Amino acid sequence: MTLADSLKHKKAKALKPGSRRPAKELCSECGLCDTYYVHYVKEACAFLNQQVAELEAAVHGRSRNLEDQNDWYFGVRQQMMAARKHEPIEGAQWTGIVSSIAIEMLNRGLVEGVVCVQNTKDDRFQPMPVIARTADEVLAARVNKPTLSPNLSVLEQIEQSGMKRLLVIGVGCQIQALRAVEKELGLEKLYVLGTPCVDNVTREGLQTFLDTTSRSPDTVVHYEFMQDFRVHFKHEDGSTETVPFFGLKTNKLKDVFAPSCMSCFDYVNSLADLVVGYMGAPFGWQWIVVRNDRGQELLDVVQDQIETQPVMSQGDRKKAVQQSIPAYDKGVTLPMWAATLMGVVIEKIGPKGLEYARFSIDSHFTRNYLYVKRNYPEKLEAHVPEYAKQIVGQYQLPD
Ligand code: FAD
Ligand code: SF4
Repeated sequence: MTLADSLKHKKAKALKPGSRRPAKELCSECGLCDTYYVHYVKEACAFLNQQVAELEAAVHGRSRNLEDQNDWYFGVRQQMMAARKHEPIEGAQWTGIVSSIAIEMLNRGLVEGVVCVQNTKDDRFQPMPVIARTADEVLAARVNKPTLSPNLSVLEQIEQSGMKRLLVIGVGCQIQALRAVEKELGLEKLYVLGTPCVDNVTREGLQTFLDTTSRSPDTVVHYEFMQDFRVHFKHEDGSTETVPFFGLKTNKLKDVFAPSCMSCFDYVNSLADLVVGYMGAPFGWQWIVVRNDRGQELLDVVQDQIETQPVMSQGDRKKAVQQSIPAYDKGVTLPMWAATLMGVVIEKIGPKGLEYARFSIDSHFTRNYLYVKRNYPEKLEAHVPEYAKQIVGQYQLPD
């Protein structure tokens, strides 16, 4: 970093105390504004300056081809597959591919640190971003903290530590801001391992979700919205509880999701080198999207720990998505017996593999488009990326 840059950062820091987040209620607490890189916030913040296409071109060498429907949905990529670890990591969100990659990158000396999220001592769901330097520190960050997490708050420590090779794990809004300031970090090599992300919540919002949905909110250690159209909760005693999506108390949950997540159109983490999720894979498998050569390097380090199969796609989501739009809008909640029955039927005949991923993307993008249109009409045109407009344009939306 040049002297001029350092003075610029310091000046920005002097402005920080007590300053509000420029994205206001749309802020996803990505952490950038907790650092002296707040200086770049107007350009970098995903909610102030949507620039997915420009950053895709810079990072991957091209942006999405709007003639290609798979590009609309899954972004720029070299390949996709389903994968799972031969020996899953106990306590990981799925089989622990993310943690395993991070550990291998450290063990092989390919990076000096990994930005990831542990939890605080008192609360398993309260995120605590760290720069992990050992396998144990990475392992301590396994499993989702399903709450807004200020991952980028550790950025100043990178520069201070003198680290030159870094792996960052994060969700879409964090990664967009990271990409926008990447050049300022003084790194020789940055690897970005992303996860998809949707419907995130504040810590209080999470409690409301757990209280209204689980039979035992205080003992939940892990949950996931799975491809069988059920929420799977895992409890402290190892027991599993499932609740059909269609039985969720939509009327009570409508206001739980953070406004940032209700206005997000980067479900699939467009700017990561490698994305590891689950929604494009068969039940029990993880979904891998390799976006560029650096993403392939990340995947290569765990090739001997995973089995893979090609992605598949089955069913037709379109009718189900169209029907769910007014139902969600009106906060319709089915009685549990009907929800369970519907869950069983849709699991048998409903969309699978990539078609399930499209179902989830369509449902969230149509909902979010309506949210932005109603609450931030002046932002709609610039904030919604072109690929998302194409996706939403396939459906009839209420006013
Ligand atoms: P693990 O080895 O258990 O590692 C999990 C990693 O996630 C850790 O390294 C940790 O640092 C990081 N992490 C945990 N919480 C956060 C957070 N709040 N912000 C940023 N990073 C975090 N996949 C889908 O296909 N569809 C979805 O709708 C979807 N929603 C998600 C929502 C959230 C909030 C998160 C964090 C992830 C979501 N994922 C989704 C990804 C998926 O749930 C798994 O995280 C992913 O498949 C990796 O599993 P794993 O077993 O390899 O991860
Ligand atoms: Fe700052 Fe991040 Fe919030 Fe935007 S989302 S205002 S960059 S903390």
